[in-house]
Amino acid sequence: MNEARPRGKVWLIGAGPGDPGLLTVKAARALGACDVLVYDYLASPAIVALSSPACERIYVGKKAGSHTLSQDEITAIIVRLGREGRRVVRLKGGDVFVFARGGEEAAELRRAGVAFEIVPGITSAIAAPAYAGIPVTHRDYNTSFTIATGHEDPTKGYSSLDFAKLANPSQTLIFLMAMSNLAGIVERLRENGMPGDLPVAIVREGTKPAQETLVGTLDTIVADVERTRFAAPAIVVIGNVVREREHIRWFDTGPLFGKRVLVTRPRSQATAFAAALWEAGAEPVLAPTIEIRPPDDPLPALAAAQALDGYAWVVFTSQSGVEACFDVLHASNGDARRFGRARVAAVGSKTAERLADFGVRADFVPPKFVAEALAAGLMERTQVGDRILLFGAQETRDVVAGTLRACGRDVDIVAGYKTSFARDAAVADLAETCDVWTFASASSVHAFLELVPGAVDLAQDKLVACIGPVTADAAREAGLVPDIVAETSTVDGLLAAMDRALALTSV
Ligand code: SAH
Repeated sequence: MNEARPRGKVWLIGAGPGDPGLLTVKAARALGACDVLVYDYLASPAIVALSSPACERIYVGKKAGSHTLSQDEITAIIVRLGREGRRVVRLKGGDVFVFARGGEEAAELRRAGVAFEIVPGITSAIAAPAYAGIPVTHRDYNTSFTIATGHEDPTKGYSSLDFAKLANPSQTLIFLMAMSNLAGIVERLRENGMPGDLPVAIVREGTKPAQETLVGTLDTIVADVERTRFAAPAIVVIGNVVREREHIRWFDTGPLFGKRVLVTRPRSQATAFAAALWEAGAEPVLAPTIEIRPPDDPLPALAAAQALDGYAWVVFTSQSGVEACFDVLHASNGDARRFGRARVAAVGSKTAERLADFGVRADFVPPKFVAEALAAGLMERTQVGDRILLFGAQETRDVVAGTLRACGRDVDIVAGYKTSFARDAAVADLAETCDVWTFASASSVHAFLELVPGAVDLAQDKLVACIGPVTADAAREAGLVPDIVAETSTVDGLLAAMDRALALTSV
């Protein structure tokens, strides 16, 4: 008997205009679950990175003038993969059905008997103007908007666009793919009676940190584009709605907008920071300098995790420590009950949140996220002879243990994990392209300096941002001047400090 072939399916997904935050929930879910991803140049690397690490990624290009594969070849690939029983995500920039040939791909899939789903995306036609502070409709100006392709050359006589109808100043005109034919489009609109002083905006790389907006009028815009060498991919918006930008411009005004920010923390801990940077209009450049690994000797952690309730206090200094402890607990068929009567301290709100994920509420979180505050807090809460477990990184500083032992506490330091230096040579090149370097631990500073020869000289043109005083000291010792030190040692604190510092430097 033939074994039934698994049923393949293709998701035709609109990835939105670029900002990963504009991906739909449904698209993110499909990306995380697919076995093959087929994508083109409009899909942001940050979005491609959301696909499951195990999935195969096929780049099919498609940029004006440099097609990697023809549309027929792309369609043939997704049909073949679907027939083979794969779960395929075909990712397109913006929306699937707005000048994206999604209709043709769906029709071919239907013809071939391959199941598919359509996941609409936010089109750049509306989102790029929105991120430039231009609403496509506004009661004061228009009652309709038209989205048109500027791909056809209107001076060649074969354009199917009806310029007599388009030339209506009380509708907003939005052109995609119009940069190479801009002069012809403007000319035809003028011939058909559109006023020369009608505002025009062109938004390139909309919703991304590289977003740029050029504002002019029908009379000036062609010369403005030539002068500034404004290039695709861009949306051309024509109409009085462009006037609103002056009042509601928002995305491209923040201090962090357009900045490239190097994120050196381990990849597994970079997600929240990267998302916050995107929100601020900055581009996170992930360059992990350290990796989290099991400790050299796993036995002490195992023994400690099995005897947690023998301690008066169990102290976690990082999220990784919490994760390592629960890994060991789960591996030995245990769970949070092993803590018994032990009380639990967490350094940092994120560490406390991670504990809460496992059902454990921290009894003590020091007000300042540094070792000294932890030692002082534990002194108040313990007595001579009490047993304290510090569960953390193999390379933990013994400041806390030293202080506590000197006062008669019985302290065990147990390595739950170790951080080791990444050996990624690409970090040096990435560092060079960034405006801000961020460090979330002393070890990330040390690892960075090993990976980036000449870092100290290079740092002259960069802003060095540290999550707290200990990291800043490590930077200083290594010869880097910490320009920015967060007041609260959290990702949010670091972001706020960067925002303040950049606002000052750009005045
Ligand atoms: N399906 C896409 C459009 C694909 S056609 C969508 O719905 O957005 C390609 C054109 O889209 C480009 O030539 C450009 O005009 C426009 N475009 C796509 N992404 C853009 C962006 N982030 N900023 C400005 N224009 C963009």
